[in-house]
Amino acid sequence: MITIDNVNAARQCLSRAQRVAVLTGAGVSAESGIPTFRDALTGLWARFDPMKLASEDGFRADPPLVWRWYAWRRELVAKALPNAAHYALASAQLRFAAFDVITQNVDGLHALAGSASIELHGSIVRTTCLARCGFVENDPQLLPPGEPPRCPQCGDWLRPGVVWFGEMLEVAMLQHAERIASECDVMLVVGTSGLVYPAAALPALAMRHGAKVVVVNPSESELDQSATVIVRGTAAMEVPRLFE
Ligand code: NAD
Repeated sequence: MITIDNVNAARQCLSRAQRVAVLTGAGVSAESGIPTFRDALTGLWARFDPMKLASEDGFRADPPLVWRWYAWRRELVAKALPNAAHYALASAQLRFAAFDVITQNVDGLHALAGSASIELHGSIVRTTCLARCGFVENDPQLLPPGEPPRCPQCGDWLRPGVVWFGEMLEVAMLQHAERIASECDVMLVVGTSGLVYPAAALPALAMRHGAKVVVVNPSESELDQSATVIVRGTAAMEVPRLFE
C-alpha cells in the first residue's frame, strides 16, 4: 500500500534501515537556483528541442548553440550553493551502516555539501573530447563561452563531460549503483521525474530486492508507482524533516 504525504511513515522506514540508498535528480537542486531540465527548457531555451541541446547529433549539427547552452548552465551552477536537502543527506551519512547517494545531477552540489556521490551522468564542470581521445579539462574558467574550442590533443571538438541522450553510462559505475540499489533497505528518491533510464530503473530494482522506496517530489512522477511512501513537498523542506 502506498502512503502519501506521510513524513512519519517515511521516518519510520528510515529508522529501521541500516543500508540507505538515495537517488536524486534535478529537483534536489531546484531550491539552489538551478532549473530542472523541464524548467530550463521552458525558459530562455524554450524554443530548442532537448535532443538538440543534449545529444551528440545535436552538438554535431550546431556546436556553438550547444556550447552556449552549457556555458549558460555552467554559470548558473558556479553561482549555486547546496541547499538544506544536500546538507541533510551529507550529515545523514554518519547515522547508517551504509548511506550512498546516486545522482543524475551534473552540478556537483552533493560533493560541495560533503556527500561522496556517484555522478551517473557526469559533471558539467568537466570538459572532454568528442572523439574520446582522453583529454579532460576540469577548470571551466579556461573555456571560451562562445565558440566550442578544439581538443589540444587530437583537434576534434571539446564537449561537456556529461552523459547525453543516447549515450551509455560508464558500465562499472552503473553496476556499482545497481549493487547499491539491490542491497539497500530503503531507497530515498528525491526530485526526479523518473523519465531518464537506466537511473529510473533503480527504485524498482531496490523494491524487487525487498527495499522500501520513499519518494520526495512536489509533483506526481513516474516513480510514484514504485513508492512505499510518497512525500509531496520540496526537497529542501522535506528531506531535512526525514532525518530530524
Ligand atoms: P527532470 O527535470 O526531468 O525532473 C525534475 C523533477 O524534480 C520533477 O519530477 C519535478 O516535479 C521535481 N521537482 C521540481 N522542483 C522540486 C523541488 N524543489 N524539490 C523536489 N523535487 C522537485 O530532472 P531529472 O529527473 O533529474 O532528469 C533529467 C536529466 O537532466 C537528468 O539526466 C539530469 O542529469 C539532467 N539535469 C541535471 C541538472 C542538475 O545537475 N542540477 C539540472 C537539470 C537537468
